Amino acid sequence: MKGLKYSSLIDENGERRRQIEIQIGDVRIGKDFCVIAGPCSVECQEQVRQAALAVKKAGASILRGGAYKPRTSPFSFQGLGKIGLRYLYNAGKETGLPVITEVVDTRDVYLVAEYADILQIGARNAQNFSLLTEVGRAKKPVLLKRGMNSTIEEWLNSAEYILEQGNPNVILCERGIRTYETYTRNTLDLSAVAAVKGLSHLPVFVDPSHATGRVELVKQMSLSAIIAGCDGLEIEVHPNPKTALSDADQQLLPEQFEDLMIDVNATLKFRKNLHQCGN
Ligand code: PEP
Ligand code: MN
Repeated sequence: MKGLKYSSLIDENGERRRQIEIQIGDVRIGKDFCVIAGPCSVECQEQVRQAALAVKKAGASILRGGAYKPRTSPFSFQGLGKIGLRYLYNAGKETGLPVITEVVDTRDVYLVAEYADILQIGARNAQNFSLLTEVGRAKKPVLLKRGMNSTIEEWLNSAEYILEQGNPNVILCERGIRTYETYTRNTLDLSAVAAVKGLSHLPVFVDPSHATGRVELVKQMSLSAIIAGCDGLEIEVHPNPKTALSDADQQLLPEQFEDLMIDVNATLKFRKNLHQCGN
């Protein structure tokens, strides 16, 4: 793919780059398979605490939770802002889980970076070039969602904006693209996962929650994403999804997440065997 200076697998001398590894505490993104889990939005201290305890128990290695929510309607819950960052931070400290949260505004990048271990750029901001530049200047890893109408090339060029500022720690995350299908919230593009693994040295994650918008599809898409070659998953889990202030239809109950993690581990073993057989 032409014009990619920093995000391609092959460098300017024709050498193959090693996939990057990002170490946060005991978590080695890009080396070990990592599951990010937690609520769509941070709603109160107890909600995010309960979610953190549940996802930790089931084997997640990173806690998610939105404090600044990019909502389609201005009348929907917009997130708790700074106090939400604090609740997430506290839940991370109590459980020992690193935390990831979305930043939606260039003015908030340094505040969010004080509380979060990883900054998330959401699909709606995947081509917000001033925001990409600003997180590129921050000293924290960045998880970059694919824009809902970004091509693979556009997505990798968004990563270039971050890398170009001197921040090498970018994680790509496929979260579904917009197609004519309306049954699912988006269309999960697993071929992009396999393709990007061959194009770039950046780790590739998959978010089956926003990709499908449906609890009943999250497990199967997670397992399929593993077979497609992803380095990790980002999954929404809420202690009581029925009462969730955002994305109630796609957040798993803790017991559903526990069940999913059993199959995730079995599928990872299966994938490892495929590699051992030379596939
Ligand atoms: C999220 O992960 O909280 C989110 C809003 O996802 P996306 O940007 O992929 O829609
Ligand atoms: Mn959500």
